[in-house]
Amino acid sequence: MNSQDYINREDKYGAHNYHPLPVVLDKGEGVFVWDVEGKRYFDFLSAYSAVNQGHCNPTIVEAMIAQTKKLTLTSRAFYNSVLGEYEEFVTKFFGYDKVLPMNSGAEGDETALKLCRKWGYEKKGIAENQAKIIVCENNFHGRTITIISMSTDPDSYSGFGPYTPGFIKIPYNDIPALAKALEDPTVAGFLVEPIQGEAGVYVPEDGYLKKAYELCKAKNVLFIADEVQTGIARTGKLLACDHEGVRPDILILGKALSGGLYPVSAVLADNDIMMVIKPGEHGSTFGGNPVAAKVAIAALSVIRDEKLAENAERLGKIFREELKKVQTERIELVRGKGLLNAVVIKPMNGKTAWDVCLALKENGLLAKPTHEHIIRFAPPLVITEAQLREAIEIITKTILEFK
Ligand code: PLP
Repeated sequence: MNSQDYINREDKYGAHNYHPLPVVLDKGEGVFVWDVEGKRYFDFLSAYSAVNQGHCNPTIVEAMIAQTKKLTLTSRAFYNSVLGEYEEFVTKFFGYDKVLPMNSGAEGDETALKLCRKWGYEKKGIAENQAKIIVCENNFHGRTITIISMSTDPDSYSGFGPYTPGFIKIPYNDIPALAKALEDPTVAGFLVEPIQGEAGVYVPEDGYLKKAYELCKAKNVLFIADEVQTGIARTGKLLACDHEGVRPDILILGKALSGGLYPVSAVLADNDIMMVIKPGEHGSTFGGNPVAAKVAIAALSVIRDEKLAENAERLGKIFREELKKVQTERIELVRGKGLLNAVVIKPMNGKTAWDVCLALKENGLLAKPTHEHIIRFAPPLVITEAQLREAIEIITKTILEFK
């Protein structure tokens, strides 16, 4: 079978809920992936920042295999010998009293929303069913009905109503709008991405997160950070909130929490918040299973031991500096933090960011447009400076071809 055969088979038997770049991947190692014809590519998407530790990271793979041979799933009907080890590890790693383990990022967000509402009723004293949560325009938190109810992207929500009520939508990076929304005493939480990844790597102004946090504190409102994409060293610090010294009341993690081996997400909070959820009120069959627990411990250990936050910080600066130097009308803007970056492409002669991504693929680098004209560049954080410079050459050469 060649690439086209694989594509045809997916088209025929799979739902068409994605529009993949026409490349069929078969193998991955570190920053590279190979297609079924054996061609090698730099992976500059990293499965939307899930593969921060590099493809098939040997430390994580070994941890996973070892646990898989011993015990994979007990459900939470029983205790198991690994979950507590993970809970202690992850709470100490991020500095919270407690963790609630889930699987996907969307489930992490759903968990945080439930936790926040319950806290609003039990601790803040909001009247039953009145709690509101402030969210930002152009957010991306996943695909469930409640999460798309918070979305302002018609592709995400259109045709899927009726929607979950209880959200106030305000512009991102807008402190006066937040201050105004916080005047409502039924507000229990403010949910925010420290950088809006899916929207196109929108980095808010310096000080936005800190100010937003302070405003929330003044109104006894929970500051909830969705660090599913920005967390785990991607932006040059362990958490993107660390850039401003903000410690979220509720922290949502996913993606790279497993290094891309397995769906593992987590919600972290202190006791006064987390303990409002009682037995039977929330959970998941797979959440906190022994394999996920061992995988997450290994994935976080790699981040710490290989100093991947430091690497992302240093190489991210080089990436932005080099791309800003490129002399072409095609590039409108380069922005980002650490190794979460975007290049805004100017559509010309009917050619869009999608065409640039197709050409990048031909030249041996995989990236994906978000929206019409933005390309996100987010390689695994294990990338070396030499590899990064080689990739920058490919990107520069490709963009310059689009005169
Ligand atoms: N939150 C953010 C900020 C994300 O970027 C994503 C996915 O891209 C999610 C949540 C949803 O994660 P998942 O696709 O694992 O449900």
